[in-house]
Amino acid sequence: MQRMVWSCDRTTAATLLPPSVSQFIIIPFLFPVSTCQSTTTTNEETETMCTSVQPIEWTTDLKDQKFDGVILVTPNHDDLPSKLECLKAPLQDYNSVDSGLGEEVVVLKVPGLPGNRLVFSTTGPVNRDYDDVRRFSDAAVNAVKRALKAGMQRPLLVCPQHKDYKNSTLVAALGALHALYMPLEVREVNIKSSNYKVCVLGLWVAHESQGQRLVDLASALESGRLACRDIGGSDPERMAAPRVAEYVVELFKNSPVQAEVISDVKLLEKEYPCLAAVNRCANSVPRHQARVIKLQYCGEGPIQKTLMLVGKGITYDTGGADIKAGGFMAGMHRDKCGAAAVAGFFQILAKLKPKNLKVVGSMAMVRNSVGSDCYVADELVVSRAGRRVRVGNTDAEGRMVMVDLLCEMKEKAVQETCPQLFTIATLTGHAIRAMGPNYSIIMDNGPAHRAGNAARWQKAGEVLGDLFEVSSIRREDYEFHKGKSEYEDILQCNNLPSSATPRGHQTPAAFLIMASGLHKHGVDSEAPLPYSHIDIAGSSGPFPGVPTGAPIVAMATNYFLSELSAL
Ligand SMILES: [Zn+2]
Repeated sequence: MQRMVWSCDRTTAATLLPPSVSQFIIIPFLFPVSTCQSTTTTNEETETMCTSVQPIEWTTDLKDQKFDGVILVTPNHDDLPSKLECLKAPLQDYNSVDSGLGEEVVVLKVPGLPGNRLVFSTTGPVNRDYDDVRRFSDAAVNAVKRALKAGMQRPLLVCPQHKDYKNSTLVAALGALHALYMPLEVREVNIKSSNYKVCVLGLWVAHESQGQRLVDLASALESGRLACRDIGGSDPERMAAPRVAEYVVELFKNSPVQAEVISDVKLLEKEYPCLAAVNRCANSVPRHQARVIKLQYCGEGPIQKTLMLVGKGITYDTGGADIKAGGFMAGMHRDKCGAAAVAGFFQILAKLKPKNLKVVGSMAMVRNSVGSDCYVADELVVSRAGRRVRVGNTDAEGRMVMVDLLCEMKEKAVQETCPQLFTIATLTGHAIRAMGPNYSIIMDNGPAHRAGNAARWQKAGEVLGDLFEVSSIRREDYEFHKGKSEYEDILQCNNLPSSATPRGHQTPAAFLIMASGLHKHGVDSEAPLPYSHIDIAGSSGPFPGVPTGAPIVAMATNYFLSELSAL
């Protein structure tokens, strides 16, 4: 096994020194040559996959020669803060011969800057009704792609804080990091000389006091998104359920997150019968067998809130017996992005270690295969909550694998302090049909709605550009899933794709509430439990393409980075 020697701990090393020291000493030592080939060593005992984030350093010096190019991301080159004054003249000069400056990413030769070059990527206007902070991350993504083409290996990203978007620098950094993500499969085949696309990403800050916190936050959030992308984005064999379990156990080794894996099929059948029904076919292939991965984080100090997360981890969705015919199956390895988000959120917890917060998570890793032992429509399955569920469509497997884990969370919740339950899933095509491909959808049960939960998530999502639409669970959604005959209590699904079903993304939330027994914990009960369902079918990212990591940045903002939203 090969392990990157210098690469994984660099940021950590820098954090051990005071900022003023780390800026000046660490980098010249680490970058004595212009190429940044990493040193590798052989060690059978060490990790098989490097899950550390792209190295990041901060500086207040625009002309810091440890970098080899400057990337400027800003709405307007005419309106730069005084510390960036020296960038104005070359951009104005360039503007005199190219009116595309305000629209295209351009590369300029600017003597005196690191590498004598400047990549300029405008955000465009950011103050119209429909603008939001994503303008900064989008511009940073484009800028980094151009910088890579230009051959930069140590780009310095300069995105001065905008008066209306106080997190613009962090948002641009997250955009840059998204563009710098290298897929797990590419890292593992060792075709590149390094696990990173660049040696280091520089972040310019106006004041020394901002530097380290910016690097810490960007690294921690990216670290979670990296885990999320690795699990969610990798192919159905690389991230088959047993291998997801292996990755997650490795990821949280020596961290404050505890991981437990359930693989015994008898136990799965007993504890999670609806999940086991979906697993029945895949179970005959050992490398495809289901895993339930349980995670727990308990922050320091008295616990004030407990988040209980269930993530859908369908490692591949053939549709089952209701097979996805006609070319609709490609891309279905991404059906595990809900569970991937749960793991990614725990990774952020492991890095930032928020106090007074407890989080428990369950990842439902199951392959929805098709074959002689697959579950079929018409079967009656008794859920963990004792509800007789009539299968209507085997392609509605996501709700099946989550419902008993949600029921288990409900059982545990009574012991917890201020619990909030969530399901996170790439659940329905209807979510994309209803809201488009870029937005997570959140919907509350009665107690969560009374507490204003979905609205709070939506607001938190705006802070760093991990955006939400709010939907409501209505009486029609409950009615839809009521048993249609005396044989069954609940109908799992109708026989149409969700995208062709009215309220196709809302009804599954009602199913999850009814079949898990959460309907007994509504506003009319003695023990109300707030529960929200999050559909990330749209926001999880494009295929082909790279998963986004939604909605973990919004989650972190909402529950322990309130400093970012405070004015
Ligand atoms: Zn499906």
